[in-house]
Amino acid sequence: RTVYVNGEYLPETEAKVSIFDRGFLMADAVYEVTSVLDGKLIDFDGHAVRLKRSLDELDMAAPCTKDELLEIHRKLVEVNGIVEGLVYLQVSRGSDGDRDFVFPDPETTKPTIVLFTQNKPGLANSPAAQKGISVIAIPDIRWHRRDIKTTQLLYPSMGKMMAKKAGADDAWLIEDGYVTEGTSNNAYFVKDGKIVTRPLSNDILHGITRKAVMRMAEEAQMEIVERLFTIDEAKEADEAFVTSASAFVMPVVSIDGVQLGDGTPGRIAKRLREIYLEESLQAAI
Ligand code: PLP
Repeated sequence: RTVYVNGEYLPETEAKVSIFDRGFLMADAVYEVTSVLDGKLIDFDGHAVRLKRSLDELDMAAPCTKDELLEIHRKLVEVNGIVEGLVYLQVSRGSDGDRDFVFPDPETTKPTIVLFTQNKPGLANSPAAQKGISVIAIPDIRWHRRDIKTTQLLYPSMGKMMAKKAGADDAWLIEDGYVTEGTSNNAYFVKDGKIVTRPLSNDILHGITRKAVMRMAEEAQMEIVERLFTIDEAKEADEAFVTSASAFVMPVVSIDGVQLGDGTPGRIAKRLREIYLEESLQAAI
């Protein structure tokens, strides 16, 4: 695989980052994951805009322009022959060659930028989407700036491990009695034709897929209600689903072992997945 590190395209075995990099030592880094379908980038613009916001919120300098970012994405997709897959992008604050809690001087310390591709044939036509996934509820003990897409992914990883141990596919996070989101996706349920999801705030990541899916649902005359909801409400739903850049719209068919509907992907989740894949592929660049 060819990867990109700080202005250079290199074989992955030759790519190097300092051991003092704050991304490595302190998770002082932000990231984006963009899907590739048919060799094209899905919603690149949405990811570029959110990256800028994450950087701004953390007083981190942008390592390059949006146009340069697009060029790097496209080049990696091309040289690695990615037809279906992902582009991972990470920007960290870099380092001034030592470990310190205080941020290094931005005048003399450049951010570190790394990109690589992941080949994922069958991403769109995934068996999981045909079958639907199962989730369990776990406490949300993450920090309170979940709107910033940082690489602090230890708890989400632990959540996925808890799910795996319980024989489930993923976990939904609960705070103060309400569902925040999935470990790496936004969460929804459908009851009596209404789609319910948590409103945007610092409590959840502002999903690029969430935004697109909500616009498409509205255009398809589906009713969406943004409000707090409990896991018990979701367990009594007709259907449920999650959204993310790599899973698109993924039906959820059971919560804490409670089967939703007839235990197969719901009508609205399936329809939204179709609409999302079709429309975002049309708009892909
Ligand atoms: N929520 C969390 C915690 C995530 O990590 C992600 C994606 O990684 C999402 C939601 C979905 O966001 P997006 O649709 O932009 O991929």
